[in-house]
Order: sequence, then C-alpha cells, then structure tokens
Amino acid sequence: MYNIRNTSIKNIPSIKEERSKILSRMGIETVEDIIKYFPKKYDDRRNIAKIIECVDDEKYCVKAKVLSKSFRTVRKNLNLVNVVAYDETGKLHITYFNQKYMYNNIKEEEEYIFFGKVKREYQKTSMTNPVTEKEERYTGCIVPMYKLKSGISQLVFTNAVKSALSYIDFNEEETLPSYIRKEHELCDMLFAYKNIHFPSDDYSLSLAKRRLVFEELLIFELGLLSKKEKNINNKGIKLTNLKIVEELADILPYELTGAQKRVIREIAKDMRDGKQLNRLVQGDVGSGKTIVAAATILMALNCGYQGAIMAPTEILAHQHYDEMSEYFKHFGYTTALLTGTTKKKEKDIILEKLKCGEINVLIGTHAIIEENVVFKNLAVCVTDEQHRFGVNQRGLLYKKGENPHFLVMSATPIPRTLALIMYSDLDISIIDELPPGRKPVKTIHLTEKDRKKTDNFILKELNEKNQIYIVCPLVEDSDDSSELKDAVSYHKNISEKFPDASVALIHGKMKSKEKDEIMLKFKRGEIDILVSTTVIEVGVNVPNATVMMIENAERFGLSQLHQLRGRVGRGNKQSYNILITDNESKATKERMKIMVDTNDGFKISECDLKLRGPGDFFGTEQSGFIDMKIADLMGDVKTLSEAMKTAVQILKNDPLLEKDEHKLLKENVIKMFSKPSFVQ
Ligand code: ADP
Ligand code: MG
Repeated sequence: MYNIRNTSIKNIPSIKEERSKILSRMGIETVEDIIKYFPKKYDDRRNIAKIIECVDDEKYCVKAKVLSKSFRTVRKNLNLVNVVAYDETGKLHITYFNQKYMYNNIKEEEEYIFFGKVKREYQKTSMTNPVTEKEERYTGCIVPMYKLKSGISQLVFTNAVKSALSYIDFNEEETLPSYIRKEHELCDMLFAYKNIHFPSDDYSLSLAKRRLVFEELLIFELGLLSKKEKNINNKGIKLTNLKIVEELADILPYELTGAQKRVIREIAKDMRDGKQLNRLVQGDVGSGKTIVAAATILMALNCGYQGAIMAPTEILAHQHYDEMSEYFKHFGYTTALLTGTTKKKEKDIILEKLKCGEINVLIGTHAIIEENVVFKNLAVCVTDEQHRFGVNQRGLLYKKGENPHFLVMSATPIPRTLALIMYSDLDISIIDELPPGRKPVKTIHLTEKDRKKTDNFILKELNEKNQIYIVCPLVEDSDDSSELKDAVSYHKNISEKFPDASVALIHGKMKSKEKDEIMLKFKRGEIDILVSTTVIEVGVNVPNATVMMIENAERFGLSQLHQLRGRVGRGNKQSYNILITDNESKATKERMKIMVDTNDGFKISECDLKLRGPGDFFGTEQSGFIDMKIADLMGDVKTLSEAMKTAVQILKNDPLLEKDEHKLLKENVIKMFSKPSFVQ
C-alpha cells in the first residue's frame, strides 16, 4: 500500500536529483521524513500595521503602494534597489542589497506586502531586504523556520513541506490509538503535522506540539521498558568470589567514600545473585566513578572472566587505561588498549590474545565493538557515557559476551525522578558524596568591565605554572565558517595578550585525532592556555588546570556550566570558575547566582529542570541518548512521566505490541531504536 513512509521525497515536484541529495544529507529520504523535520523556530508575521504605527526595531507586515524605484551599482559586489512605498499614513523607504531582480519585479503604483524589521530615524521609516509579496503567502501568518543545509532555501523547503503534507490528507493511518488520544486529550495526527509546520495560531501550535512530544516520548518509553522487561528475565553470569574488592581497597592510596562502598555493594549483590547486572552509576564530576568501574571489572577477572570498558573518545580511553591497568596488573591481570589509531600489527596481536584469554581486560573507544573483536569469555562491560553512546552501541558491546553484566557510568547528574524515566531500562546507583579534602571550586560572575581584572588574574595563575581553560561559545546556528573565524580571532587575541604563554585552540571543525593531540599536549603541560569552543572533552583529568573561564556564560545551560566547571578543581590547588556575561536578563542572573552559590551537581540539575520551561529547545542534544526530534527530555518532564505511565499500561495489556491498534507504535519503536545515535 502507498503511504508516506515508502514514498520517496523525489515525488515532490520541486525536489529533483540535486536537492534530494542535500535533503538526504539532512536525513530526509521519504515524505514522512520531511513531515517529521520540524521547524527550529517560527517567525511571527501576523503583525500588520499602518506605516505610522510602526515602532523602531520591531518587525511588521506593511501593505503599501510603490511610488518610485531606482537601481544603482555602488561597487563591484554591491548594488542597491531603492523603493519608496506609501499607504494613507506615510512613506516607507525600502532598500534591497544585491537583489537586482527586485527592480524588475516591483511595479510602480502596485500594492505589495512588505515584511521586515522597521527602522525609524529622523522621521524616516525604512526596511532593509524585506520579504516582499503580492499576495499573502508567507506574510500575515506564523512562518516556520528550519535548520537547513546550504543549497536549500527556507522558501524551497517550506514549499516542499506544504506539498508533503498534502500526502497525508487521505488514507494515512493514525499512529496513536484513539483510546490513548481520548484519555490524554491529544489532537489527531493530521492536525498535529499541519500545525507544527503552519500553525494557524499559538493555541493550535501548542496542541500540535503536545501531541507530537507525547507521541515521541511514548515511543521512547515503550522501547526502554520493553528492553528492561527482557533484561529482568535474564539470568546473569553468577560471580561468587568477590572478596577481591576488599583487597583492592587495601592497596588504594585513599579510603573509599561511603557512597563508593555502597554502590560497589549494590553491584556485587546483583552479580552474586545471578541476576544480570544492568545498572547506571550516576555521580557528580570527581565523585570517583572510575574506581567503582575498576572494582566491578576485578570481580569478573577474579572469577576467571574478561572485562571491557568503552569510552566515547580516544583521550578518555587512554586515561582509563593509564589509571586502571595498574590496578589490574597488581592482581596479575593483563590490560590492552584498542582505539581507532592502534596500528594494524599491534591490533592483530591484541585480537589474537583477547580471543584466547591472554588479555583479561580490553579498554578502548568504539573500536572495541568492531566485528573482528572477539572475546574468550566476556562477563562485564562498562561504558563511560561522558558523551553518551546510543542504546545500539551498547547493544553491540553486549553481544560480545554471553549475556554479560553491564555497567553504565554517567557524569551528568540528573534529578532522580527524571533519571528513573530516562534510564528506565536500567537500575540506578548514585554516588552522592565527594572524596574528602577537595577544595571546592570558587565561582565568580564578572562582566566585560572586569576584563583587566581577569587578565591580571590569568597572568598570576600562569606565573604560578597553573593551566587555564577558556571556553568561548559560538552561536549554534552560525554557519561553520563564521564560527571558525570567531574562534580563530579570539585565539589570536589571547595569544597577543599573553605572549609568554603557549596558547592552543581546539574547535568542533577539527578532526578528532587533531583534537586528541592537543588535549594530550595540554594534559602533559605543554600548553598553558587552552581556548576552545564547547568541544572540551568532558571527563578529562588535568589536575594542574586551575582556571575555567567561560565567555558569554549566558549561552550555556546550568548543567553544561557545571560540567565545564568540573574540568578544574581536580588537584590539590585552589581552582576558579570565572563566568563572564554582560547579559542582564533575569534568567541569566538567576543561573549565575546558582552557579556561584552551589557546587552540588544534583542541586544544579534540579534548578535546571525548574528554570527551563517546556518548549525551550536549547541544549536538547545533551539531554538524551536518543536523537529526539521534538521532545526535550529536560523541559518536557511532565509529559515524560505521563508517557511513562501510558507505556507501562500499554505493555501490561499487550507486552509485545502485537495488537492491531499498536502496530504503528511498534514500527516506530523499532525505528527509533535502530538509528545509530552516537554523539561525538
Ligand atoms: P569521576 O567520577 O569524575 O570519573 P574520577 O574517578 O576520575 O571521577 O576521580 C577523580 C579523582 O578522585 C581521581 O584522581 C581519583 O583517583 C580520586 N578519588 C577517587 N575516589 C577517591 C576517594 N575515595 N578518596 C580520594 N580520592 C579519590
Ligand atoms: Mg570519569
């Protein structure tokens, strides 16, 4: 049967070969894909005004007749079309830059609708490059704005969405069963898709959003819960000889905290009972998760099995290797490191030894889930989810053993209620205590006026041979080249300010190998100041770094700021977090105050949750390990818990989603959980 899922995007008249290729790079192959490519924001063009009513710096639609027009070339790459238009209240001066065709398109004495930002200076009312139309199509209404790749304009895309929507008018099956829609008062599918793209008003938009968010979260919860259901019945490899943890504690240079001991006990209990361990360990930055992972692996080694640790980046894999292999060696076990840069010859040897059990522990990046990596008897897997692995990457590691135990470490503290839902496929242990004797990082909020002060402070820290991180965020939307330019010029500026220091730049456009090299140099103390966009590897341990300075701190969410702060304060020196922002908004001030007042990651995440209202899409990418199209797991926590309850109820009646009314839900669950969503 014909449906939107199997109709190629090329069936849309305006989408030919060239454009379909670009769309494909945006993940859009079918009519369904484009319908589910939701606007990033909306431009409210409903404000229709007479010229005299327009207020400076606000956007308006103005209906006006053209009085005169002129064209001139200023220089080689610059030409101007000037138009004067009028209504019964006054004149509007319009300038188009480099849009020569407007001179031909616009006819004198004809009426047009102009949409744009109005400027009022010296009695003159003007607009620059307004949207100009004869009939109201993209004016007088709320217009969607999409995140696009170059080669596809907003207009082309918007028109394609319009055509795509006409495909679901007939015959398309509703994905949510009607009993669920009734119970939760959700609008139907067609209304939702039409209004998420072309909302007739704010209320319709909110209805559409609510339904789509609910649906997405329901599918997410159905996926997680069915997985857990499977896990519960899983018998795990029974590990009984667990005394080794005490011996490990004896050789550590420190005493384990109460929380670490408790979490290790929780892990040991699962494994001893023959239950399959499926546990998330959450702990604030610096709470000592690594040693908990090492202890878990040791328990398996001591019973004659192998262990594996997967880290999201090369540098973190190295770090774990350096730290843990010592402990394993002490007990007579061999550890190997396998990453994307391991030489072929060495790799072959590792693979051989792993297969016959001569290597007991394999630590690495996602190189360790490649097909040719074969274990002799893998019993414990650990993933360090500083960046999050997709559920599927975890799945691949899991398949390397026969139902191995699984430990997931996460450094993003999230409120317990939320964690229970977001990780509903896992049990949860929390390390809620920091090792004693840590000097809390001092956090200060400063503004541009304090620049001299911060410069002097950095100089002082440099003189004491301490290292500095500077994060300068760049607008998320900016196209790549301008982002790069900003980072490069900022880096230059810092290099000139501190000529004696070695300053390096790390940014998102670099290859991961390049980034790793710079991070390693920083770690070895060969770089004094590391300027970075937001790509600093979380989880990297550089105890000699004492300052984390964050420019435009208003651009970050609280949890993100806290993560960044966690890069310092890892040694025994006093460390500082300097937040620089001139932003006067209430929300920013509140966020800065929370950062200054508390170092507790869980408290901060609670505040984050409270402060960010639903619909705030900023920071979406850090909230979940599944690529959500519309739901923001942090913002939509109420809907999330509603979806969770509904999912539980559905699975109770139909555990395998076999009923006809759940058929499409099942299809969507499979689709969501089969996409690789490894974020790097
Ligand atoms: P994270 O939870 O952020 O991964 P790590 O495991 O990297 O934290 O630990 C941070 C630092 O604290 C390491 O240098 C580690 O050796 C040290 N550490 C861990 N547990 C303790 C403890 N109980 N007492 C003192 N230091 C500890
Ligand atoms: Mg860590």
